[in-house]
Amino acid sequence: MKDKKIGFYLCLLLGYLGIHKYYERQIKQGILYTLTAGLFLIGWIVDCITLYKVAFKMSAEEVIERDRILLEKAKEKELLKGQRRSQAKERAMLKREQYKQDFLAEKNRVAQMKKEKIAFCPKCHSTSLTYVNKRLSIGRAVVGDIVAGVPGAILGGLSSKKGKVKCLNCGHSWKL
Ligand SMILES: [Zn+2]
Repeated sequence: MKDKKIGFYLCLLLGYLGIHKYYERQIKQGILYTLTAGLFLIGWIVDCITLYKVAFKMSAEEVIERDRILLEKAKEKELLKGQRRSQAKERAMLKREQYKQDFLAEKNRVAQMKKEKIAFCPKCHSTSLTYVNKRLSIGRAVVGDIVAGVPGAILGGLSSKKGKVKCLNCGHSWKL
C-alpha cells in the first residue's frame, strides 16, 4: 500500500482535484473528484479527516486491517460487476437464440400456408383477412366478408370481383 502520510498531504493540498485518489489507484473516483471539485469540496474535507486519522492516529495493525477491508470490498465489487456482465451476456444470447427460433418457425409457418394455399397477409403473415368489395359496400351496408383462413382457391375466385383484401391484424390492404 501507498505511504499514508504522502496520501494525506496530497489530499490536503490537491484533494479538490482528486490527486489523492489517483495516488491510491482509485482512478474512477479520481476522475469523479476532478470533475466535481472533490465532490463539491465535501468529499475532499471528509477524505482529509479520514486520511489524517489513517496517517497519524491509527496503529500500523489498524492501517493494515483497514487496507485489507478496503481491498476486499473492491474485489467483491469487481466480482459482482463480472457476474452482472456475464448474466447480461447470457440474456442477450438467449434473446438472439429465441429470435432465430421465432424467425425459423415463422418461415416454416409461411411455407406451410403456401403449400396448403391458405391466404395470408404479406406483411404480418396473419390469416385474419377481410375482403372488401367496393360495389358491395356502396350497394349494401356490407363492408366486407371475413375470409379468415379461406384457401387461396376461394380467394382467387373472389379476385374476379376486383376488390381489395385488408389484413385485420396490421391493417395492410392490397388488391387482388
Ligand atoms: Zn397484416
